[in-house]
Amino acid sequence: MGVNSGASVLVRQAGELIERAPGGIKLVDAVELLVAWGRANSVWPLVYATSCCAIEMMSTIAARHDLARFGYEVMRASVRQADMIILAGTINEKMAKNLVTLYEQMPAPKYIIAMGSCAISGGPFYYDSYAVVKGGDRLVPVDVYIPGCPPRPEALIQGILQLQEKIKKEGRRNPWKVRETLKVPFEDIFSKAQAEWAAREKQRDEELREAREQFKRENAASPASKPVRVKKEEFPVVPRRKPATQGISNWTLLQMIQEKFPAVEVYGHPGIIPKQVAELGSDYILDLVVPPEQYRAFAEYLKNEQSLGLDMLIQLTCVDWKESFDIVVQLLSCRDGHKLFFRSKAAKQPETGNAEMESISDLYLGAEWHEREVYDFFGVRFRNNQDMRRIFLENDFPGYPLRKDYDDPTRVVKRPY
Ligand code: SF4
Repeated sequence: MGVNSGASVLVRQAGELIERAPGGIKLVDAVELLVAWGRANSVWPLVYATSCCAIEMMSTIAARHDLARFGYEVMRASVRQADMIILAGTINEKMAKNLVTLYEQMPAPKYIIAMGSCAISGGPFYYDSYAVVKGGDRLVPVDVYIPGCPPRPEALIQGILQLQEKIKKEGRRNPWKVRETLKVPFEDIFSKAQAEWAAREKQRDEELREAREQFKRENAASPASKPVRVKKEEFPVVPRRKPATQGISNWTLLQMIQEKFPAVEVYGHPGIIPKQVAELGSDYILDLVVPPEQYRAFAEYLKNEQSLGLDMLIQLTCVDWKESFDIVVQLLSCRDGHKLFFRSKAAKQPETGNAEMESISDLYLGAEWHEREVYDFFGVRFRNNQDMRRIFLENDFPGYPLRKDYDDPTRVVKRPY
């Protein structure tokens, strides 16, 4: 949590004095380390969510993903008790001023996570929208960007872990780099924001004084309004239905697949054999690496092999690893309930950074839009997709906004402290 500015000035001065004493530097390092550790593990986000991404954020807080594990669960309704805002959703122009006010009122140090394409760049509303801010970092300094539309809860958790890493390494002096004092100018923006807010409140009281007094004169006999409580209706408890089957086990799936495609490996576990897959846990979803030249044939096999029953495409997306892309596909068996991921590398062309891949939109019709989305945001073209056009952004949008090499200098906002 943020520290009162006066106290933090004292702490800084005391730190400088102790540092000069013999062995003092070790003590200061230890304190900085402890403070950074505590700060990173107790970030309290403000309740701030504006559209679809908010649903994913709520789901991250709920039981299945349980954000509380990282000390981030205490969503605060007041900026005075918060030190982080997750920009979860589209930011429109009307809200921009209020967002900046909220940011200014939060005590420092404070952090911002931009969750989803809208918060990063305006997303699908980048062009020709009179109402949408083209990225939260045009208003407030963003610390972590989480791509996706919307990003899944796992992505938000990853972003939060990245922020923790960042917080642990900041401070007046970075305790991981002994004797390297960060020359960060101290600006007391907390007191400034408090003074501005007090002035605004005073002005509002002045404006309303006459109206309030008139209301009291005219309604001297009115009792104060009191809401009437309504008794809650009672409903019988409905037992949850269990899924009929858990589907084919990871072990069996991998065995069946490797009989046909021996070069297919488990992502992150090269050389693992089907028998060992069970050790990855019952919640683990099989994630397979497929050689790029077999990508299309592999998808065909999964679609047409009746015993696998992988009849639905949940998503097709892309990861930019700088030197190449991963095309990641997630499939589900509606019939039996099991799922799997598979991914293949798409090499980048040296001049443009673009890439190409076979389309699977004729096998899984839902892939058509997902492939267009990957093209729109990453510049990967899918051969034989019948409608390979941008899907969210205009044709003349400069570049591909979710790519690592995408650059828009007008977005960079320096941190104010
Ligand atoms: S990024 Fe996508 S999911 Fe998130 S708010 Fe924007 S449109 Fe909705």
